[in-house]
Amino acid sequence: MPLRLGAARQPRIPKGAEYDVVIVGGGPAGLSAAIYTTRFLMSTIVVSKDVGGQLNLTNWVDDYPGMGGLEASKLVEAFKKHAEMFNAEIVTGVEVKNVERGEDGVFRITGSRGLDLKAKSVILAVGSQRRKLGVPGEAELAGRGVSYCSVCDAPLFKGKDAVVVVGGGDAAFEGAVLLSGYVKKVYLVHRRRGFRAKPFLVEEAKSKDNIEMVLDSVVTEIIGDGKVEAVRVRNRVTGEETVLKADGIFIEIGSEPPREFFERIGLEVDSAGNVIVDEWMRTSVDGIFAAGDCTSMWPSFRQVVTAASMGAVAAYSAYNYLQEKGLYKPKPLTGLKV
Ligand code: NAP
Repeated sequence: MPLRLGAARQPRIPKGAEYDVVIVGGGPAGLSAAIYTTRFLMSTIVVSKDVGGQLNLTNWVDDYPGMGGLEASKLVEAFKKHAEMFNAEIVTGVEVKNVERGEDGVFRITGSRGLDLKAKSVILAVGSQRRKLGVPGEAELAGRGVSYCSVCDAPLFKGKDAVVVVGGGDAAFEGAVLLSGYVKKVYLVHRRRGFRAKPFLVEEAKSKDNIEMVLDSVVTEIIGDGKVEAVRVRNRVTGEETVLKADGIFIEIGSEPPREFFERIGLEVDSAGNVIVDEWMRTSVDGIFAAGDCTSMWPSFRQVVTAASMGAVAAYSAYNYLQEKGLYKPKPLTGLKV
């Protein structure tokens, strides 16, 4: 399993405290925002289910500027340490359920485990959730051979005969390559012949003798009694159906933003459910900003560096918002952890 920092330790949940900014989400966008808001001397708390977000689903990162190639968990650690260096509080293991503005103009942020905070501004960096196929057998066999994270679960399939990976993006190809080192056969099932994945990942997958591409094809059923035993696949061009014997299926078909959460807060979303932001990461609600994979910004290019950039811009906008409203009262830095 990848490192999920802070998830094991159950932190104290702050109740009633007021911050200049509450950042919801502890992935690259949220932690980058925290680095910047604390540098703007704003009192800052990050509340999140985990630290790392989508980075926890990746094994290796070699395109974050200045870091060379490193394990994703190491990059997560570096982000967290950097945010804490300037005194951002980070609370994990909580899910934010609602954000509403009171009559005094202050936001109230409530969530699981009694979370109840106040904030002059809010940055939503809530990321996205893995997309489901929605085929028979998927829900019933989830966790019994159906996985949404190759990087997390590949070692559990060591020595097995065969697995199916679904998707044509980076996650599917990274997963297929990783799994090819654990199992005898990997079927990569993709609905068309073109791939979104980075060319070097595609080349690496093609170089593996035990990866077979099943293209122009969709999964129509996951078959098994108590655990995955086979996957039914239909060729979209010929209509032919095939049953692939498999011990597991890794569904790596991208992610979806939490549309319902945004709509509950009263934020405008695009057709995909991403919260709509302008170039300054301002949402449709004054004082609420957003950053990262959950936004309408650069939807076809979700990278750590783009998420971090959006976090920095959202922080700058939150700082300007406080200044414009006459709410900015800089907090002197004490006990700097450099
Ligand atoms: P993605 O890039 O959105 O790709 C999703 C893939 O799943 C696409 O090939 C898509 O097919 C397919 N798909 C979507 N819905 C489907 C459905 N209902 N049935 C069958 N296939 C479906 O998602 P991702 O691979 O999870 O990557 C997300 C982001 O994270 C990307 O920006 C990626 O670059 C980044 N990432 C990077 C790395 C890395 O650099 N090592 C690793 C993982 C993720 P179509 O192409 O036909 O639409």
